[in-house]
Amino acid sequence: MKVSFPYMGSTIVYKKLFEFLEHEVIMPPKPTQRTMDLGVKYSPEFACIPLKMVMGTYLEAIEKGAKVLVTSGGHGPCRAGFYGDTHRNILKSLGYDDVELIIFDAPQDNWKAFWRNVQKIRNGVPWPKVINRMYTLYRFVQKLDELEKMVQKIRPYEINKGQTTQVWNEIQEKFDKIKTRKELYKVYEECKKMLLSIPTKEVDEKDKIRVGIVGEIYVVMESSINFGIEEILGNLGVEVERSLYLFEWINDNLVPWALRPKRFKEIIKKGQRYIKILIGGHAVETVGHIIDFKERGFDGIIHLMPFACLPELVTQSLIPKISKEVDIPILSLPIDEQTGKANMLTRIEAFVDLLRNRKKGRTKEVFVNEFQQHADEERVVVV
Ligand code: SF4
Repeated sequence: MKVSFPYMGSTIVYKKLFEFLEHEVIMPPKPTQRTMDLGVKYSPEFACIPLKMVMGTYLEAIEKGAKVLVTSGGHGPCRAGFYGDTHRNILKSLGYDDVELIIFDAPQDNWKAFWRNVQKIRNGVPWPKVINRMYTLYRFVQKLDELEKMVQKIRPYEINKGQTTQVWNEIQEKFDKIKTRKELYKVYEECKKMLLSIPTKEVDEKDKIRVGIVGEIYVVMESSINFGIEEILGNLGVEVERSLYLFEWINDNLVPWALRPKRFKEIIKKGQRYIKILIGGHAVETVGHIIDFKERGFDGIIHLMPFACLPELVTQSLIPKISKEVDIPILSLPIDEQTGKANMLTRIEAFVDLLRNRKKGRTKEVFVNEFQQHADEERVVVV
């Protein structure tokens, strides 16, 4: 089958998945302005930006020959519950009757439907091979995420600007060629050495700035929609860590609740201190991670949200309260098709300045942006 998928984060993982299942993979192009334009043109106006971007990606993948599109599903009660059907209807209305959209909802939601989808994409590959290859893929994701976390810790201190990003690109190319578990472990060790050999400057622990990135999955994971925020922060000398990595997402979402990692359950518990009911998206995790980052000594939080994302709007409205109660500056950045990079950059730079000043003890202020102007307490600054 000519298979493609949405472009989000480390897409070589999805590519590897379908290669292991012996499909012909049609790589979707990295989202660009054209992807956005296509998505905006054919999606309902009220739709969230991830739906539009994914729509644009589907259309570009179909142009390249894709006949099957595979994606994960979404839960309500926000619009995520309508994503799959909306995409399917749009494709149908555009005449793509020969293109199949396979949507994987969480297995615990509907085991039968999940199993049917598994059988479809298994592509007749014998089960022992599937199990062996999926285990390789699981370790592939883990190792790739480990290396990405190293990148995020090295980039702020690199001496030759841009070198870490260049090495990271080379690492992804090397990972793309991996076929077996043995190769994976060998390549991983080589890549680790490549990263550790990047010349870096010494920075005192007390001068290091660490920022946690939280929010809705697509805008957190996909650099083309968040303007490469991790690189921007790294170039400003800031270490970053996201609330979402693919390996953790798999462990946190694809196994029954009882078997999920203790760390994930603790994050949910922390989030439930502020959001007690299910509101969809990643709102509870977002809040839980804000508290967790603070407890782990991070200096600030950047909250990314698609403009008008319902769950993240709830988070955003809680930010002044959380910010003050746990004493951590939080910058909330809504993203939509109108968002400009220059504007975003200015806000991020101002935020990093604030974090440095707090670190040096020059201020105790926490930071909110103009979207939270109702926050009027004396320790909250509106920028
Ligand atoms: S989580 Fe936010 S962006 Fe995603 S579907 Fe729900 S409302 Fe839209």
